[in-house]
Amino acid sequence: MPTTSKAGGRLGPFATTIFAEMTALAVATGSVNLGQGFPDTDGPQEIADAAVAAIRAGANQYPPGPGIPALRQAIADHQRDRYGLVVDPDDGVLVTTGATEAIAASLIGLCEPGDEVVMFEPFYDSYAASAAMAGVTARMVRLHAPDWHWDPADLEAAISARTRLVLVNTPHNPTGKVFSTGELAAVARACVEHDLLCVTDEVYEHLVFDGVHVPIATLEDMGERTVSISSAGKTFSFTGWKIGWATGPAELVARVRAAKQFLTFATGTPFQHAVAAGLAAGDRLVAPLRESLRDRRDLLCDGLGALGLTVFRPAATYFATTDVASIGEEDAYAFCRQLPGRCGVVAVPSSVFYRDPGPARTLVRWAFCKQPAVLREALDRLGKLAA
Ligand code: PMP
Ligand code: GLN
Repeated sequence: MPTTSKAGGRLGPFATTIFAEMTALAVATGSVNLGQGFPDTDGPQEIADAAVAAIRAGANQYPPGPGIPALRQAIADHQRDRYGLVVDPDDGVLVTTGATEAIAASLIGLCEPGDEVVMFEPFYDSYAASAAMAGVTARMVRLHAPDWHWDPADLEAAISARTRLVLVNTPHNPTGKVFSTGELAAVARACVEHDLLCVTDEVYEHLVFDGVHVPIATLEDMGERTVSISSAGKTFSFTGWKIGWATGPAELVARVRAAKQFLTFATGTPFQHAVAAGLAAGDRLVAPLRESLRDRRDLLCDGLGALGLTVFRPAATYFATTDVASIGEEDAYAFCRQLPGRCGVVAVPSSVFYRDPGPARTLVRWAFCKQPAVLREALDRLGKLAA
């Protein structure tokens, strides 16, 4: 299987394949894989049973392009019950092939070539690639360790007459930051003042350990200009099902839908039935996962700290960040390439989430969405680094 790829045209410089590369490296070297963010245990049996039942019941042909009615209704109910957000299940909800497709379709559908989009750096790797595919230029606002704060003046400076939208990600990958209401209000003020749209990626909305997740669409004057994106992958530990969605005002969702129509047209029918059942269960199925993830975050962060790494404990998500400068390393990419050989562990250099990492070149991201025994094994192996 190829582990690196190059694409032509617009995508070329953004075609990094770090997650595939690191997972292949883990498999090839028998390493513990704390790189790519996927759980090593399945999600709730009752959701898996609902997918099997849907297949047996014949839900196996193309679904309606925007998603099956039961899932669109469940997503609209979720937005209302959790956040008080009113979206029309017919015109205001679009089911997508993971959040990844929702992000790409939003940028393609909402922007004109030559537009600019503002995003926070580090950024989830598909953002810059999707911007490139949409023919738009990405402008960055830097998050600063250790608390991942940012300067509202940097946001102002990133906005120009060509800016079309601000792309927000909270809870944030790779840092695990949960944007505060004050930070979201600053983004909202900029959007209103400059008449910008907002696209918000909230795939970790249910995996918050400290603080509260606030959807930016709930802020004053933001509902009418925001497309909110989420996914069942992280919420229910079925990352391979690739069921995501975008919600918002009908006229914005229509533009995203127009792009989705020619990316995938429609999304895995039986999994849509299963996710509808999962969302209808409310927090009952997610709370145990969140609680166990919190423990696993602490297990990994405490262990990495004990090994001498500087740890930035995340408030949410699957990922912890460390600075390996504290153990004498100068380059996270080189460190991560050598780590399987040195001690049989795989992690991801955070530099891949930056266009220009600068002082972040010694940051490393570790996934803790693994079984406690696996995390302990990784920590044991990492102990060799100090030896
Ligand atoms: N956004 C963020 C911030 C992510 O971490 C991920 C990875 N799961 C995605 C989007 C993609 O989600 P999906 O697997 O639903 O496409
Ligand atoms: N979201 C996952 C991560 O950040 C990976 C998803 C992917 O492989 N594209 O690790």
